[in-house]
Amino acid sequence: MSDAWIADRTRAFDSSGIRKVFDLAAKLTDPINLSIGQPDFGVPLEVQNAAIEAIRGGKNGYALTQGMPVLRDKLQAQVDAAFNHPDRRVIVTSGTSGGLVLAMWSLVNPGDEVIVFDPFFVMYESLVKLIGGKCVLIDTYPDFQIDVERVAAAITPRTKLILLNSPANPTGVVASPAVVRQLAELAAERNVVLLSDEIYREFCYDEPFLTPASFNPDTLVIDGFSKSHAITGWRLGFAHGPRAIIDAMIKLQQYTFVCAPQPAQWAGAVAMDIDMSGHAADYRRKRDLLVAGLADDFELVTPGGAFYAFPKAPRGTATEFVARAIERGLLIIPGNVFSRRDTHFRISYAADDAVIRRGIDVLQKLARE
Ligand code: PMP
Repeated sequence: MSDAWIADRTRAFDSSGIRKVFDLAAKLTDPINLSIGQPDFGVPLEVQNAAIEAIRGGKNGYALTQGMPVLRDKLQAQVDAAFNHPDRRVIVTSGTSGGLVLAMWSLVNPGDEVIVFDPFFVMYESLVKLIGGKCVLIDTYPDFQIDVERVAAAITPRTKLILLNSPANPTGVVASPAVVRQLAELAAERNVVLLSDEIYREFCYDEPFLTPASFNPDTLVIDGFSKSHAITGWRLGFAHGPRAIIDAMIKLQQYTFVCAPQPAQWAGAVAMDIDMSGHAADYRRKRDLLVAGLADDFELVTPGGAFYAFPKAPRGTATEFVARAIERGLLIIPGNVFSRRDTHFRISYAADDAVIRRGIDVLQKLARE
């Protein structure tokens, strides 16, 4: 096979950083795995049963491209009740990732600039590159709060979109209410799309979740059931935003993903009625356990949401520190996977308390060596 067969766009980015950790994980026996970005609680029984019933009931064919009414109408009613925006429409997507892909493809022309906050969810930079856009990174170290004045200064005539993710992966930081509001207003003033990735909406520990869509009716929201209901493998997400954007996304979905899996959509409609706040409360407690365990030895911004913490490596690069942690059986992710900097590392506390405690123990010992 000729190397030239592989399209150039695949060379614009690589995925080696995170893959290395997963490759190492496969070799370890009984690793202390705090690297995984998915909940450790079970799928609610009602949701499991709804998926099984859908499959047994013959709901296995293609779904409507925009989403099955059983789920889409329910989401639309929820969105209407929350925002009362006359132009806001819903699409059911193949995971939140599917929603992100469709949104980017629908909005970003080659050469357009996309403002992304560093550190960022790994997919953002690659996706922007894949469609020929240009990532304009805004550094948010050391507190990971967005400086809205810096965003205003970064906007050019080529800026198409600002990508907000709060609560954030990998930092767990929640944007302050003032930042959410100012960013929403700035996007409206400067005629730039604000894309809000709200996949960790259910995991907000210190204050209620706040969406920029409350302040800017043209905000495009990307959301999904992966994290809220522990169904990352079912590929069920949704997006809501101005009708013209959603229509473009539906058109692209038709020729790419076709639809989100049908059985998952029937189960998703059931999932919407289930109170998951007990799990969020449990994760808040896990957050507190981890933060208390690291407080004496690490520089750490207390994460207000999601299920990640992003402490600073005590010395050297994060890659070096993570390599030493992995030698002791602890799997964590070096910050350079999510960032231009290689100073911090991501810990996921979506794990059993005993595993979190073992992880804290290794980290404390490493820091004190
Ligand atoms: N956005 C963020 C910020 C995420 O962390 C993730 C998953 N790690 C996704 C989107 C994608 O989620 P999904 O499984 O719904 O595609």
